[in-house]
Amino acid sequence: MGKYDNIRQAAYLANMQLPKLGLVMFTFGNVSAADRSLQVFAIKPSGVPYEDLAPEKMVVVDFAGKVIEGDLRPSSDTKTHAVLYKHWDNIGGIVHTHSTYATAWAQAQRDIPIFGTTHADHNTTDIPCAAPMDDNMIMGDYEYQTGFQIIDCFKERDLSYEEVEMVLVGNHAPFTWGKTADKAVYNSGVLEAIAQMAVLTEQINPDAPRLKDALIKKHFERKHGPDSYYGQ
Ligand SMILES: [Zn+2]
Repeated sequence: MGKYDNIRQAAYLANMQLPKLGLVMFTFGNVSAADRSLQVFAIKPSGVPYEDLAPEKMVVVDFAGKVIEGDLRPSSDTKTHAVLYKHWDNIGGIVHTHSTYATAWAQAQRDIPIFGTTHADHNTTDIPCAAPMDDNMIMGDYEYQTGFQIIDCFKERDLSYEEVEMVLVGNHAPFTWGKTADKAVYNSGVLEAIAQMAVLTEQINPDAPRLKDALIKKHFERKHGPDSYYGQ
């Protein structure tokens, strides 16, 4: 058994969830799974259709973005994954998709307002939309800079990546993460659902108010408080 077998398998299984959950078309989207002790992650190869994927086709890359093992080219978003793993110690999986509703909010360059308890069960803040990149960043190492675009957004807004496990990259699309690749995929599905609900909410009532503070507080406490009991 190879030392990267576990993360290859985890990355493979998590990638295969994306088309099943309706989060990707064609070869859009990618998941990676990290081994923090070895400081590497396994990620989907670039341009390979989901039905042709296999654990051994996952590419192993280090946190500097260098390929360690694998015959195929890693996903074009690999450097963004590498930057997030390098700077955020407690994540074990990352997902990037262009899922329709979350991407629509990213294109509109808007945070997703917290409208209801479905949202509050997972995040008690609006889902942040990182500002579009400066032209010089786009002209430079674009995928690498996308990682910093995300990190800078969290710094500026004083958000914790362990608390808020999702972001919209302005003009682009969402990234989600979690302690495992599975959790990152789960968050990707949750984000798409929240994004869709928020669009419909604004369609039905353009003046729909944000969730009341008392409910936000209640949901935060039931997830984090001393008597936390959430987990449906
Ligand atoms: Zn993308």
